[in-house]
Amino acid sequence: MKKNVSRREFIKRNSLTGLGAVITPSLLAAGIDSQAASLTDSAPTVLPSSSGQAALLGGNPIRTKAWPTWPIWKPETDEQQLLEVIRSGVWSRAKVATEFEQKWAQALGAKRSLLVVNGTNALIIALNQLNVRAGDEVIVPPYTFIATVSAVLATGAMPVFVDVDPETFQIDPAKIEAKITPRTKAIIPVHILGLPADMNRIMPIAKKHNLVVIEDTCQAHLAEINHQKVGTIGNAGCFSFQNSKNLAIGEGGAVVSNDDSFMDRCFSYQNYGNPYGTAVGSVSTGSVMQGTKLRTTEYQAAIGLALLKRLDGETTTRNENAAYLKSKIKDIPGIVPYKLYDNVTRAAFHLFPFRYQKEGFKGLSRAGFLKALQAEGIPCSSGYATLNNQQFLNDAFQSKNFRKMYPKEMLDFKQYVAQNHCPQNDKLCNEEAVWFTQNMLLGPKSDMDEIAAAIEKIHKNADQLVKLSQK
Ligand SMILES: *Cc1c(COP(=O)(O)O)cnc(C)c1O
Repeated sequence: MKKNVSRREFIKRNSLTGLGAVITPSLLAAGIDSQAASLTDSAPTVLPSSSGQAALLGGNPIRTKAWPTWPIWKPETDEQQLLEVIRSGVWSRAKVATEFEQKWAQALGAKRSLLVVNGTNALIIALNQLNVRAGDEVIVPPYTFIATVSAVLATGAMPVFVDVDPETFQIDPAKIEAKITPRTKAIIPVHILGLPADMNRIMPIAKKHNLVVIEDTCQAHLAEINHQKVGTIGNAGCFSFQNSKNLAIGEGGAVVSNDDSFMDRCFSYQNYGNPYGTAVGSVSTGSVMQGTKLRTTEYQAAIGLALLKRLDGETTTRNENAAYLKSKIKDIPGIVPYKLYDNVTRAAFHLFPFRYQKEGFKGLSRAGFLKALQAEGIPCSSGYATLNNQQFLNDAFQSKNFRKMYPKEMLDFKQYVAQNHCPQNDKLCNEEAVWFTQNMLLGPKSDMDEIAAAIEKIHKNADQLVKLSQK
């Protein structure tokens, strides 16, 4: 791109090619000309080459350009409603929050949605209003963000871990029934990484055992099974709009359901226990339940509405890039990309996961692989640590409430860890999982070519990289 192209012209051009998505203040600050040139080169005539030395061994890195940053904020289209809200002085929840809830429910094909402070508390509200209480057990996967488990502990219930299917990274339905006891009240399938869990097998198990199902959809905005959005299949779906999530507000969350009376109760619970529909500022309505205060604000809703306009298009881009990247790396020995269940019609790809098997790379450790990939200019991580053996669980078990609610043997941490052992999950966390973040899937296809070329290059240089790591 020529030096004299104005910023406005640059944004216009990029939004025409659908690449406006990558224009962010930090990129602009980083020097628009060089960044702009690189980001518009969506179709290089030559594919990036995987020959040559690995960057970690002194070669040239495959990728030197910046990656699309997140979240995306476009002042031209995103700021008007937010400014109106700020200038109005109506900041506690009112009509903009309601508008967001209507549009979010509509985007999902759900009857109702309730915007609240964050995803963790969306889960706590749903658990609470589906009557999960101290003394109950809740089935969860170990391959999840800590908040799924914190939410269960916050209600006083006991998390029970069911191992994952390593091919999909999701809770393994075949292992659920063995973990159901008379105390079990709920299952929380987590659509982790934005890939749908196997709801077609989970729902019948829940029905058979009379369990409620709360979908943790905090990473799975607009993902679908048989064209039905996840989060609308169980009794409730819980979303997060934290800054990193595919729909970012900074902090925010939502409970979603088709059950009106449940949603009325959720509203009351997050609003001091006041009746559903009570306006902000009403002090004498009389509570209909024991409640708490987890309400959103109007300006958060305005930010959510602005970003919601782009979510569908971005989700399509992530799906296309993920499928393309998968096709490019699936035949590299030692790389096993995610698998989607057959009935998945769309994923969210909050993360792009694959399994790294070092046997395919001459024994190069995952840590060595990640270091080499990062040196090629490809950000990557090993993802979650194991959750089902962490000390915070024992801290909860030793609390006064837990000691009152459970027999002593259930709180024996050593025994708990043994009973909740999940070998497939251990392998994912400790040896195999590798992630790319969702923002990396928002650029042109040529970005995927670069990721694939970098992995191939490391594969070709594996011998030398192993030697380097042994020094
Ligand atoms: C982000 C996340 C949460 C918690 O959401 P917050 O908005 O950060 O509270 C819960 N579960 C999963 C799987 C998440 O990724």
